[in-house]
Amino acid sequence: MPRMQRVGAQRRARAMPPTRHGQRRDLRFADVLRLQRMAGNAAVTGLLTGRPTVQRHQGIDPAASAHIPTTAEQKDMPTVAEAPELRKEYGENKLEWVEVDKRIKEANKTPPTTDDGKKKLEADTKRLKEINDRQAEITRKLKVRVKGDEEETLKRNGIKGGSAAWFADVKPMTFLDRPATVHKLLADRLRSAEAVLKNLPKPANGWVQEGHSTLREPGQSLHSFGLAIDLNPATNPFLVRATGTYEPAAWSTAIIDAINRAIVLVLGKDPTAFAFFTRPDEADKDTRAEKSYDKVKEASDALKKYLTLADKAKLPELEALLAYDPKKRTAAAWVKLIKADKTAIKNTGAAKRWKSPQEGFLNLNKDLVKAMTASTGAGLTWLGDDTIAGRDIMHFDVRGVGPIKGIWNSENKTYTGLGSG
Ligand SMILES: [Zn+2]
Repeated sequence: MPRMQRVGAQRRARAMPPTRHGQRRDLRFADVLRLQRMAGNAAVTGLLTGRPTVQRHQGIDPAASAHIPTTAEQKDMPTVAEAPELRKEYGENKLEWVEVDKRIKEANKTPPTTDDGKKKLEADTKRLKEINDRQAEITRKLKVRVKGDEEETLKRNGIKGGSAAWFADVKPMTFLDRPATVHKLLADRLRSAEAVLKNLPKPANGWVQEGHSTLREPGQSLHSFGLAIDLNPATNPFLVRATGTYEPAAWSTAIIDAINRAIVLVLGKDPTAFAFFTRPDEADKDTRAEKSYDKVKEASDALKKYLTLADKAKLPELEALLAYDPKKRTAAAWVKLIKADKTAIKNTGAAKRWKSPQEGFLNLNKDLVKAMTASTGAGLTWLGDDTIAGRDIMHFDVRGVGPIKGIWNSENKTYTGLGSG
């Protein structure tokens, strides 16, 4: 149980009316109703039966409760203005740490013989510990600030009641027979998707084959607010544009290069014209999501086939495809490229938890994606369609339908809009 719940319970226990005999029996029905509205049924039951009143966060899922700053954290939380200063100090400390650490390592290699040298080593050792302690403290404080940033995000989006009210509505549910912890706004939408799927033939291996990824720790975009869900996350990766924002740029580049080569060799298309990261030009959102699905699936199937073409047995198939290559590369040159891409994609895939890239990067059923995105279904934004940061094939969220349209970050002093979905 988080600290705030205990503190809240103690405070409420002290604030309870004296327990004179008969007092509780005198509560009138109207008073009970008023109290129920104010404090919830459990609190009133507690009052009537003489048991301690309900704790403020009772019934809140523990993972959701972890987003609500405790009383101690609220007292200790850096202000919005202090956060960038702390981040700056962290950076400066890090630079000093490297210098001090270097001197200590040198001294350890060649121990000082003079008193002065010994004193310097002693001072450096002390300073290193000081820096370590300070960095740990800054990290802790900034982590607390991220919880405050969630409150700030709610506020900036016009949502009343703060984190306590918001996260009381983030609860575990079952979606497609698997557990999910989401805000009630997303829960309602997921139920709409299930209602659509109920009328469709279920695939033999089910609608999903992996556990969902839903609520995350503070600071993880809409996932942190219980407003996002990843489906089959290990087999539908986040394919990032080569910006180096979410992962080392080399990873993104390796995958994009391989996809583009697959587009040339297998599909016989110009990758610039195919424009993997560009959304289909379609005003209707439902149609566009479907077109995006077809486009991603075409590229995914192409990559799957491409990665098989280095096998000796596939040489006739490979040779039949060479005619499309504008660079007129030989089969041997392609085998070399495919083998290199296979290794790069396997290593990168493992690093970014993308299981079995040889199976492509989209295994979500089209009916499932349609039920998740269609205005007659869940009406969610699929980041396989919205290509803001790349194509995050596993990810669905509420950005297009609200209520959170942007995320506040104190450290960077940014309010990042999530787009219109
Ligand atoms: Zn996600």
